[in-house]
Amino acid sequence: MRYTYRRGLLWVGLYVLLSTVPLGIALTGNVPEARAFWIEFGVALGFIALAMFGLQLLVSGRFAWIAPTYGMDNILHFHRDIGIVAMAFALAHPMILLLAEPEYLSYLDPTVNFLRALFLSLVTVAIVLITASSLWRLSFKLSYEWWRLLHGTLSLFIVFVGISHSVQVSHYLEPLWKQGAIILVMGASMYLVFHTRIVRPWLNRKKPYRITGMKEEIPERWTMTIEPQNFKRMEFAPGQFAWITVGDTPFSLQQHPFSFASSARARTISFTTKEMGDFTESWKHMKPGTKVFLEGPFGSFTPEPDSHLFLVMGGIGVTPAMSMLRTLRDDRDPRHAILLYADVTAADIVFRDELEELRKTIALDVIYLLEEPPEGWEGETGLLTQEMLEKYLPEKKHEYTCFICGPEPMMDVAEISLRNLGVDWRRVYTERFEIV
Ligand SMILES: Cc1cc2nc3c(=O)[nH]c(=O)nc-3n(C[C@H](O)[C@H](O)[C@H](O)COP(=O)(O)OP(=O)(O)OC[C@H]3O[C@@H](n4cnc5c(N)ncnc54)[C@H](O)[C@@H]3O)c2cc1C
Repeated sequence: MRYTYRRGLLWVGLYVLLSTVPLGIALTGNVPEARAFWIEFGVALGFIALAMFGLQLLVSGRFAWIAPTYGMDNILHFHRDIGIVAMAFALAHPMILLLAEPEYLSYLDPTVNFLRALFLSLVTVAIVLITASSLWRLSFKLSYEWWRLLHGTLSLFIVFVGISHSVQVSHYLEPLWKQGAIILVMGASMYLVFHTRIVRPWLNRKKPYRITGMKEEIPERWTMTIEPQNFKRMEFAPGQFAWITVGDTPFSLQQHPFSFASSARARTISFTTKEMGDFTESWKHMKPGTKVFLEGPFGSFTPEPDSHLFLVMGGIGVTPAMSMLRTLRDDRDPRHAILLYADVTAADIVFRDELEELRKTIALDVIYLLEEPPEGWEGETGLLTQEMLEKYLPEKKHEYTCFICGPEPMMDVAEISLRNLGVDWRRVYTERFEIV
């Protein structure tokens, strides 16, 4: 799907609209007499923060229909950044109220109402904790899996306390239908977590794939091939990815995103990984016959049917490009593809032999770029630069779509350079593997 300003504005508009729904409910029908400006402002921030926390559950819920234009990585970056804004609004809500009217301190007094004081104190800690643990997960020494569990639990707790608090205060939520409406709208956002974590794996449990092959491409790079068990395999577009779970059940904390590396036309599906941590290091021990569950496909890092491909890939980021090139081969597609493939040493290049083969069957140019080239290396050397991109970017650049996937610094250089070189930003697609 193509990027457009119109589509972008539409999604931003929709987000702003949804973030005012609880406030809208509060201001519908009979509204109590206005108090001092800062009190009303503080209350409004509370309602907006509640809506934003609810929307966080929607944005992070891996719903393929949510802004497919922008790709999952961009959506998750948005989720992280807007989460900071939601935290600021949520903390500003009591602070402004306390500054405007110190009597509100009684909300935190356990001798006035023990449960209210307890939950409001706990939710404040939860809001700070959810933000801090997301921004500094590694400093907290939290594994990705435990962080995800903590993140989900805290977010549900925050929304739950937010609903209870607004209903309990009820200044703006009389009559009863307004309380019902808030519970319904915010409860729906909580259901989304239940749907993602419980309903979706439950529906998926009847669709196990089996590992049919595990190949060591080069040291520490493994390709897993899987086949569906008596059902039609997942359809995907080259460049997309799936969340994979390995083992007897789809209910697992260990669920990881991987780009499809195989052709979109192949009977089997394959993924290729670089050993990074506990999950990717476990691939080499996985036995044929082991069950694998897929959730997806996701992502919009996919070629349009009408344009040539300019692929800027680094390291294991080459996997989505392999799917694109293998699909071009299987479709006998005459389009031109240029692959600029950066890695550290010659020994790190995965799929080198296959790329040479592909060169003979499709209109493909491959340029290798090595940070530490061997003696006598004739390809490009060093780190990716704008000059290098300029050298290989075709003159008719408007006929190409650019795809960038690799280490973050390389991606940043490529993205900015292509823009400097006059490539329309709507023709530059990125897929970031490092999302947190
Ligand atoms: C859209 C997308 C496509 C990807 N495609 C590939 C691919 O084709 N080949 C490949 O080798 N890698 C791919 N990755 C990266 C891969 O998901 C991580 O390397 C893997 O999850 C690391 O898990 P680990 O337990 O081995 O390592 P860990 O040491 O646990 O993690 C290393 C880093 O990977 C990230 N990570 C870990 N677990 C997850 C998770 N469940 N979800 C998201 N990020 C996580 C974190 O940033 C973490 O710091 C892709 C990532 C994304 C977002």
